[in-house]
Amino acid sequence: MKLGVVSVQGAFPEHIVSSGKAMRKLGVKGEAKPVRRPADLEGVDAIIIPGGESTTIAKLLWRFGLHQPLVEMAGQGVPIMGTCAGLVLLAKEGDDQVRRTETKLLGLMDMAVDRNAFGRQRESFEAELEIEGLDSPFPAVFIRAPVITRTWGECKVASRYNDNIVMARQGNLLALSFHPELSHDTRLHELLISLVGK
Ligand code: GLN
Repeated sequence: MKLGVVSVQGAFPEHIVSSGKAMRKLGVKGEAKPVRRPADLEGVDAIIIPGGESTTIAKLLWRFGLHQPLVEMAGQGVPIMGTCAGLVLLAKEGDDQVRRTETKLLGLMDMAVDRNAFGRQRESFEAELEIEGLDSPFPAVFIRAPVITRTWGECKVASRYNDNIVMARQGNLLALSFHPELSHDTRLHELLISLVGK
């Protein structure tokens, strides 16, 4: 198994560590590798788009020619997990900030996002989340987190915090408002790995 972690900006080193742990827990042989150029995507079975600054990550995806291959691989059914800024990039619809900065989203999931929904209230916090498919709460770390304001079509809500949608799934695509790589809980990385070949 080869897991590619988009590593152009943001919290990618932690994702590489968590992905390795998740593979070991599942008894899956393989490794997690950084993706910086299209060639790094060769033979990749699953992809993580980390948190960071969505504007910056989006720009770099274009500059390095990663935007189109990512869209194509998603269409071929390769599982992709976008966390925080990565969630913003997966959305079809951004907010005013996304429009103003002319951020080119990957536009893969039937959902609209608000980039800094919690940021205006609280910079960062932790919360125990009930998540669809997990049998006990997940300790979620939110950092200037976006929320999903609306889903439609094939996109299904997987978790809410208060009234906010903080996780969604659309087939092979997972979007998380929070940073699972910062928890000592690899269940969401395991979920991503379990989607390979489904
Ligand atoms: N609010 C940031 C953005 O939209 C994301 C923050 C994060 O990834 N921790 O770019």
